[in-house]
Amino acid sequence: MKGFPITSAQAPRYAGVLPDAVDLVVIGGGIIGICTALFAARGGAKVLVLEKGLVAAEQSSRNWGWIRQQGRDPAEMPIMAEAQRLWVELARETNEDIGLAQAGVTYLAGTEKSLAGYEKWLPYAAKHGVSSKMLSKADLAAMYPGLTETPVGALHTSSDYRAEPLVAVPALAAIAVREGVQIIEHCAVRCLDITDGKVTGVVTEKGRVCTSRVVLAGGAWSALFLRNHGIALPQLSVRSQVAATVPLPDIGQVAGSGKHLAFRRRADGGYSLASSGASELYVGPDAFRFLPNYINQLRDDPFGCMLNLLPPKGFPDAWGTKRRWSRQDITPFERMRILDPKPVARKMAKLARDFAAMFPQLGEVKLASTWAGMIDTMPDIVPVVDHTPLEGLIVGTGMSGHGFGIGPAMGRILADLAADRPSGHDLSRFRFNRFTDGTKMVPGPDV
Ligand SMILES: Cc1cc2nc3c(=O)[nH]c(=O)nc-3n(C[C@H](O)[C@H](O)[C@H](O)COP(=O)(O)OP(=O)(O)OC[C@H]3O[C@@H](n4cnc5c(N)ncnc54)[C@H](O)[C@@H]3O)c2cc1C
Repeated sequence: MKGFPITSAQAPRYAGVLPDAVDLVVIGGGIIGICTALFAARGGAKVLVLEKGLVAAEQSSRNWGWIRQQGRDPAEMPIMAEAQRLWVELARETNEDIGLAQAGVTYLAGTEKSLAGYEKWLPYAAKHGVSSKMLSKADLAAMYPGLTETPVGALHTSSDYRAEPLVAVPALAAIAVREGVQIIEHCAVRCLDITDGKVTGVVTEKGRVCTSRVVLAGGAWSALFLRNHGIALPQLSVRSQVAATVPLPDIGQVAGSGKHLAFRRRADGGYSLASSGASELYVGPDAFRFLPNYINQLRDDPFGCMLNLLPPKGFPDAWGTKRRWSRQDITPFERMRILDPKPVARKMAKLARDFAAMFPQLGEVKLASTWAGMIDTMPDIVPVVDHTPLEGLIVGTGMSGHGFGIGPAMGRILADLAADRPSGHDLSRFRFNRFTDGTKMVPGPDV
């Protein structure tokens, strides 16, 4: 069985010589960094994206591909509406089939309690004009013929989309390059150059670039990068595992999440499967340091995360990972070009069996490939999108497991923040200083 298609063995597609100076440096070539760069270039800026590994090699290509409004934090809803509009426009501009389809999303409720939890989210949907509704058992039987699970009902949003992350994010990068963005892969940013409390450049493994504006979109590495500058961000990351089946009969186009697993029809005729159970937190020094920030989340959902006390060597919060370095040092970013957690074969095999049991008409379900990704998360399960206390440094990170769908709009917003233009949205929920200013951590909806 194959592993994940983007590996460290692959040669960079975007090489090139570092420019002396640019208007904006974006750290990270995931969906957030690429979209930020694209919209900044559209705003007239000279933009450089620096990626330590390869574009989209971490979370942005490993995710399930759900572009959902369903279950979002209310503060994200207007941004998500913009993101959906942008996905449609950008898909057209890629001149590629990125698998964008408005196929809908359904959360099956196994108990009356979880059904009631889903129902609580409906007023937010109504307020933002989203077509979410509750489905009955009969609706579900029509939507998923052959389903053996016996949900008591479901939450469904027919207007939600999906896309193929592995194709989509590189395709967005290609648009950005076409529109003047320079991307350099295998080029880790080691640290910022700071003069009189302001950003004046970045120091990379290949040299220095002058700039007064930096957007940090480093995914699971962002907190480590900030820490080296003495800036604390209570970001942690959890492992989530995915399996792609071989092409299978069509049991439904609607992406669904049930008792044991979540499934989504892929453009290649297979399904992406993932466990609907707990993700796995690799416990390192930051997990202890930031424990007080996560108390409310733990109280709300004490079994939401399994703990692994031995993060693999070189991971952002591993015990031996360097926390401090200087501009001459080889940094943790260069030591790990691609964060590539391994899936557990036994669990992946169980996913295939569970899917076959859920839809017996499929017969034996064979897997084509399996992989895992580290999801970067925040105590309140919503991102940080804001200026930092360091003048010139803006952060777009902590997308908390739902940054693919909202990525284009978050990128547009970050580009505007970097250019001191109004973002057009209320970003107060995503403030950088909410973890230190006494704000009570209220986790986003558990939907
Ligand atoms: C298994 C899984 C399933 C998911 N399912 C969904 C879903 O269905 N829908 C959804 O909306 N979201 C989903 N997500 C979440 C989504 O994938 C992420 O929120 C999103 O991709 C985050 O994008 P990003 O650009 O912030 O980070 P990333 O994609 O992780 O990119 C960050 C990049 O920064 C680079 N970098 C870091 N530090 C440096 C440095 N110092 N110098 C240079 N480069 C650096 C890294 O190499 C990396 O490429 C899922 C995530 C996973 C792992």
